[in-house]
Amino acid sequence: MDSRHKPNMLRPRPKISVAGSHPLTGASALPECAPRRPSLMQAPVLVLNATFEPINVTAVRRALVLMLKGVAQAEETQASQVHSTSKAVPVPSVIRLLSYRHIPQQSRALSRKNILLRDRNICQFCGRTFSTSELTLDHVLPRSRGGRSSWENLVACCYECNNRKGDRTPEEAGLQLARRPRPFTLHTSRQLMRLIGHKDEKWRKYLFY
Ligand SMILES: [Zn+2]
Repeated sequence: MDSRHKPNMLRPRPKISVAGSHPLTGASALPECAPRRPSLMQAPVLVLNATFEPINVTAVRRALVLMLKGVAQAEETQASQVHSTSKAVPVPSVIRLLSYRHIPQQSRALSRKNILLRDRNICQFCGRTFSTSELTLDHVLPRSRGGRSSWENLVACCYECNNRKGDRTPEEAGLQLARRPRPFTLHTSRQLMRLIGHKDEKWRKYLFY
């Protein structure tokens, strides 16, 4: 099978919908403000565990959903706000989970999202940065040759390079991997958070210690 055909496990999970009202408060603010500022809603938000330990990076949209559900609260906010019919909510920059969540130290789910995150949306063959929709996953050793769907054998790849590579190894196709693919560890995760957050002063105290 061609590497462009992704097995089910690697398909992106459906996005969480913010439509509808909150079961407790009846707030229906988010769907109205969301489409107007798509870039703001996609801005990264640092997620802290209840213990203030950084555990993840999410998007403003998802962070607002977590806050609305009462799962998390904002620790740091941006100057901008999202407006609802009843009130204006400051856009979160850092949120914290209200109850402690155990995060396994080593493992992250093998998913398309996490592989693109690990590879920072950079095609591992041509080194260019792409948007998520412009990237696919490439099996370094093609599946037709026994290549597995694993952290060590999957890389972010642009469609151009994917077509060029076809059912060949990088060597056969005259392509070179930017770096050896590795599993996503907590270390990788922290490095990424620092990379994403280095411009945001509000993230610094949680990440640089
Ligand atoms: Zn490429």
